[in-house]
Amino acid sequence: MSQLDLRELHSTEFPVPADMQSNVAITSLSKIYNWSRRSSMWPMLFGLACCAIEMIATAASRYDTARFGMEVMRATPRQSDLMIVSGTVTKKMIVPIVRLYNQMPEPKYVLAMGACASGGGPFKEGYNVVSGIDQYVPVDVYVPGCPPTPQALLNGLIALQKRIDGQSLGNMDDVPWYGVGPSDPVPVPILGPDIIDPRQMEMIRAQAERAASGESYGTRELPAAAMDVIAPRTEAAARPAQAPAAAEVATDDPDRAEALRKREEALARKRARQAAQNLDS
Ligand code: SF4
Repeated sequence: MSQLDLRELHSTEFPVPADMQSNVAITSLSKIYNWSRRSSMWPMLFGLACCAIEMIATAASRYDTARFGMEVMRATPRQSDLMIVSGTVTKKMIVPIVRLYNQMPEPKYVLAMGACASGGGPFKEGYNVVSGIDQYVPVDVYVPGCPPTPQALLNGLIALQKRIDGQSLGNMDDVPWYGVGPSDPVPVPILGPDIIDPRQMEMIRAQAERAASGESYGTRELPAAAMDVIAPRTEAAARPAQAPAAAEVATDDPDRAEALRKREEALARKRARQAAQNLDS
């Protein structure tokens, strides 16, 4: 342990003589616990879009996250403490992101890097983009920018370290992972034609029942994906997926008509397969 590290550990309540500070540290259990966690934070190795390039630059030699003990990016959630969500989060991608988050052991932290991860960014309310990762997993630090520079990301990592420094082992709100029993996993969203948050399921069901009974359910349209989930799967799932009839082919050339007909049939089979997969998922 270097002299600098020891100085970081000294508690101000118990001053240590200057000539002993490189050899002796008097500190609290919380402080040494926080210091060891925040000085060896291992981020998960993944990037989603342009912000990931800045994250990669931050880990390279010019900025060097090794100074924070964070250079060991792990390719598995089982060995990661920190999820840096760097880039645009699409509805397709939020499903594995939440699953990976659930697979990380406690204590774990999430840093939303850039405008996209924080709130949708330039794609906010786009048909395929979620409006912020914090709608699905708890975020500890937001780093603004499009993209944030490596310096901004480093600033966010330092902010996270300060946040960890402020935690106390005596306060269960700070360290809930030491509570009784396992912590509840975050519900994994369901990907259909649109994304569905399982936490909203009661509301979606109630709206669907009102819609089915002919009542108005408000000005907002019920997402098509909601109907997929709510519609009794029994009936739809019980019967094998039928391939929609191929479109009529209008051409005088019999070879071309045959080729078009085969293509239409292949497309119809593909659509039926996808519909069956959506029902199974
Ligand atoms: S915030 Fe900007 S730079 Fe980052 S992923 Fe979104 S569009 Fe790309």
